[in-house]
Amino acid sequence: MRKIDIIYIEGDGVGAEITPVMIDVLNAAVDKAYGGEVALSFEEAYAGGKAEERFGDPLPKETLERIREVGLAIKGPLMTAVGKGRRSLNVTLRQELDLYVCQRPVRWFTGVPSPVKRPQDVDMVVFRENTEDIYAGIEWAAGTEEAGRVIRFLQDEMGVSRIRFPQTSSIGIKPVSEEGSKRLIKAAIDYAIATGRKVVTLVHKGNIMKTTEGGFKRWGYELAHDEYQAYEEGGVTWIPAGGGPIKLDDCICDAFLQNILIRPKDYSVIATMNLNGDYVSDALAAEVGGIGISPGANINYLTGKAVFEATHGTAPDIAGKDLADPLSLVLSGEMLLRYKGLDKAADLVLSSVEKTIASGALTSDLYKLTEDKEHCRLLGTRAFGDELVKNL
Ligand code: ATP
Repeated sequence: MRKIDIIYIEGDGVGAEITPVMIDVLNAAVDKAYGGEVALSFEEAYAGGKAEERFGDPLPKETLERIREVGLAIKGPLMTAVGKGRRSLNVTLRQELDLYVCQRPVRWFTGVPSPVKRPQDVDMVVFRENTEDIYAGIEWAAGTEEAGRVIRFLQDEMGVSRIRFPQTSSIGIKPVSEEGSKRLIKAAIDYAIATGRKVVTLVHKGNIMKTTEGGFKRWGYELAHDEYQAYEEGGVTWIPAGGGPIKLDDCICDAFLQNILIRPKDYSVIATMNLNGDYVSDALAAEVGGIGISPGANINYLTGKAVFEATHGTAPDIAGKDLADPLSLVLSGEMLLRYKGLDKAADLVLSSVEKTIASGALTSDLYKLTEDKEHCRLLGTRAFGDELVKNL
């Protein structure tokens, strides 16, 4: 029997409601798919409010250590740590485990209310770089000694004369490296090859930020040529792959945000930098049902370590009321199963989600948006989870 160890963190707010649903659905799917040949072994680790209560520390070092040792985790939402010196678990995990890919699949399930006319045309997987960019948190506030020193350095030693209001500027630094860009883009191309997807798009703002965002784009094409024997034909870059070549193209981020509304069918795998990826992921999620149902994972494809997570926050306004949609976390669990090669169980989860929603079962986030209330049933978190298990 193959046993797969998984560390789970229940999470704050709605975490206590959605996490048990996720565990039940995953266990049942694996049982059904492999009938005792594979078993998931969930071990709880503590973070957030529960850890604070038990250990007086929202992020005990044992939690980090266990995740590092086991290398596979799934977590509910955690409240943002407040106060000086408090670290965010999300950021800490990403940094400590160097989880450089933030991976977000975006697809539509029939019956989910959507603000666009053809949500079925949205089927993309976003690979967002997770460790660099303006997001690296290297910045100094206006008026501080540090900001003054950086500005003086730029003016005096680097000949920078374009800081419009030097006395009152905050300053941020945007590091973008060849290594960081290439490993992210490589993960996206490898994913396209492994899953038979036919387009990889580099989303950037290189027309304005020529060395950072422009570098990301340039390194992407360079990687494709150096490591994947890419070639040009008809003015297009192609990457050879089984089942036909993959098209590698790029798009300026602002145009991309229009195109995903106008012609989403043109896109499949997206490789992008940290800040663009943040905007793009949420815009895409909104097209297919919003944050309550969007899954995500943070992965280091080189070490194999991965943390799957609900992409929404703790939703304190609905916590404890049996109103939360468990799908974001359940679908993150589906990603986990697929990541571990348990495709049969992952397929069962997906088809159960399809079947459940198509039957009209919806949690309140989606129910209040649907115009077709006549054919829909409003279910609480637990009842919706039971339907998911029943429909496996
Ligand atoms: P946090 O401070 O933890 O980020 P938040 O309320 O600011 O919490 P979210 O938790 O992401 O941010 O919630 C934004 C909105 O989306 C809220 O109205 C919340 O109720 C809703 N929401 C978030 N997650 C879910 C979910 N799983 N099911 C239903 N509604 C959700």
